[in-house]
Amino acid sequence: MAKKVILSGMQPSGKLHIGNLEGALANWVRLQNDYDMYCCIVDWHALTAHADETADLDDRIVQMAIDYLAAGLDPKKCAIFIQSQVKEHAELHLLFSMIIPTPWLERVPSYKEKVEKLGLDSYGFLGYPLLQAADILLYRADFVPVGKDQVPHIELTREVGRRFNGIFGEVFPDPQSLLTKIPVVPGIDGQKMSKSYGNEITIAEKPEETEAKVKKMFTDPLKLRKGDPGRPEICPVFALHQLYTPQAEIDRIDTECRSGALGCVACKKQLADDINKALEPIRSRRAALESDIDFVNDMLEDGANRARVRAQETMAMVREKMNLR
Ligand code: SF4
Repeated sequence: MAKKVILSGMQPSGKLHIGNLEGALANWVRLQNDYDMYCCIVDWHALTAHADETADLDDRIVQMAIDYLAAGLDPKKCAIFIQSQVKEHAELHLLFSMIIPTPWLERVPSYKEKVEKLGLDSYGFLGYPLLQAADILLYRADFVPVGKDQVPHIELTREVGRRFNGIFGEVFPDPQSLLTKIPVVPGIDGQKMSKSYGNEITIAEKPEETEAKVKKMFTDPLKLRKGDPGRPEICPVFALHQLYTPQAEIDRIDTECRSGALGCVACKKQLADDINKALEPIRSRRAALESDIDFVNDMLEDGANRARVRAQETMAMVREKMNLR
């Protein structure tokens, strides 16, 4: 039986951080064994907010591809490719734009907020959920791994596919959200880890950089010194221990933090060691790939060739239904 198809994507933000790793990549690595996977680096999406910031776009794409491979995505199992290398994404987006009412896009929850907060008012920005729908439907994906905040976008994608099917005839399946239980990964300042906040621990950095960042992490503000009782439940250091430290140790940290027996300096040192230990195999694969960029570029080209086969199949169906040559 043919495997079900998954489409997943990330904007090329450059070197990935452990929030990306734990929230998405680690899950994709598990899924690649059971599904026909397409992992898209969505460079056109990166332009919807920052069309003028392309000077280092290619480097960001390559760095992201290196992180994908280093984290364990296997190009034999999934097609890793750059969105703009498969032009059918643009063609399907254009055709969808002819049949989708603009209020469908204006009511997307993040749209109004970003227009007001960031002053984004381009046509491309309004249409980006439609480009996202084209990304997914182009591969006739059965599932899309997403966090809760992305569910409205997948619902819109289904509505787009249904509208096309209703007007022209059946081409697109109803893609389902594959809800990922995304762990809360706090950054060093306690906010959600994000490159835009500058609070990230990257996969690529050196162990000593990780150690220096963890040293600066926010903790329970009422625990000023060893001996003071702490509240691990509000401490971002403890939240990261949950991801990187063995359970028996987590239990000990919980008890000793509360009693005051454990100080934050020692607690952070252990966290840095545990993160570095977990990232060590990924970092060493990363270093090997950094010195073989030709391999990475060839892999991206091969991924685009494989993605294009499926994309062209879909577009042949679409054109036939629409009576386009
Ligand atoms: S001892 Fe550890 S868990 Fe407790 S407040 Fe300090 S850093 Fe956080």
